[in-house]
Amino acid sequence: VFANLARAPEDPILGVTVAFNKDPSPSKLNLGVGAYRTEEGKPLVLNVVRQAEKLLVNDISRNKEYIPIVGLADFNKLSAKLILGANSPAIQENRVATVQCLSGTGSLRVGAEFLARHYHQRTVYITQPTWGNHPKVFALAGLSVKTYRYYDPTTRGLNFLGLLEDLGSAPSGAIVLLHACAHNPTGVDPTPAQWEQIRQLIRSKGLLPFFDSAYQGFASGSLDRDAEPVRMFVADGGECLVAQSYAKNLGLYGERVGALSIVCKAADVASRVESQLKLVIRPMYSSPPIHGASIVATILKDRNMYHQWTIELKEMADRIISMRQQLFNALKSRGTPGDWSHIIKQIGMFTFTGLNSKQVAFMTKEYHIYMTSDGRISMAGLSSRTVPHLADAIHAAVTR
Ligand code: PMP
Repeated sequence: VFANLARAPEDPILGVTVAFNKDPSPSKLNLGVGAYRTEEGKPLVLNVVRQAEKLLVNDISRNKEYIPIVGLADFNKLSAKLILGANSPAIQENRVATVQCLSGTGSLRVGAEFLARHYHQRTVYITQPTWGNHPKVFALAGLSVKTYRYYDPTTRGLNFLGLLEDLGSAPSGAIVLLHACAHNPTGVDPTPAQWEQIRQLIRSKGLLPFFDSAYQGFASGSLDRDAEPVRMFVADGGECLVAQSYAKNLGLYGERVGALSIVCKAADVASRVESQLKLVIRPMYSSPPIHGASIVATILKDRNMYHQWTIELKEMADRIISMRQQLFNALKSRGTPGDWSHIIKQIGMFTFTGLNSKQVAFMTKEYHIYMTSDGRISMAGLSSRTVPHLADAIHAAVTR
């Protein structure tokens, strides 16, 4: 019955790794997927995660029973606290409904399905450009996806006026997807003053903010500072949604652990929202997995382990910042034409290099360097050893 089925294309981001794996060259370099690597180019399991896992394994009172549809209660409480702040009035007033979901993607999808079922406005605005999965997640939930201007290729910075214009002309009530920090793919974030203007516009027009927080701690190295934009919106007493991922900041990629929080105006609303979230989740995957969320809850609950996490997180963020500086210096020392200061200005895991798809194809063919065709490179995949090779490739691509 499937004899005539067309072959689906590879995922534009994950497909980069498929191509990379097929390349026999010893000097090949994968800068496509946003996963942290050590200076030695190896995946990293944080010490604090190993420590939490040991505690879990040694605790023979634990079992593998199903957990509730909404996930582990401790994990949900602590996740809301992590993003909204320990003293958040919304938490104290019990107006936040939090459910454990399958990492950031699952949290976005559950949020999108909930909105499609229960929210009166079916249009969602996403940044131009954005992470490639965003439009698909929202469209498959049945929402209509529109874009708002965000990135200005001429300045390689924020198109703030375009953003204000586009959100200003969005229909009242429209959902606005916001990257909480470390915008993917551009590495360009609004300043605190710009965030405040965005907040005022969103509130004055009655738009509904939906934060995607996939990199908390990775932009500045501080979990609290990176949560500021979200907290600014919660502090005004209005509603918002937040999808959190622990893939990057705790290195729990494959454990698929994340949370969706819906901040409401009153406790009884939050409780009804949670009851409806259960109806969204039950037929999708019934209940979430236990292991990753137990690791996170163990760490967030314990003062010492939490402190250790902040140190290891800062080390990852600092290594990425040092890669930015090294790549910038390497291009400068080669006299590579163009202004490369955006490499040190942009933040988070990615640099939006400004290289076009032809230059990217050239670098892959001649230098075995793999990245998405929009010229995005994952700084987390670079090391002191590989920076010169990348700088040579960029230099050759822009001077040929
Ligand atoms: N949002 C953004 C902007 C991302 O970059 C990612 C990961 N690439 C995610 C969400 C979700 O990732 P995950 O499902 O692995 O948590």
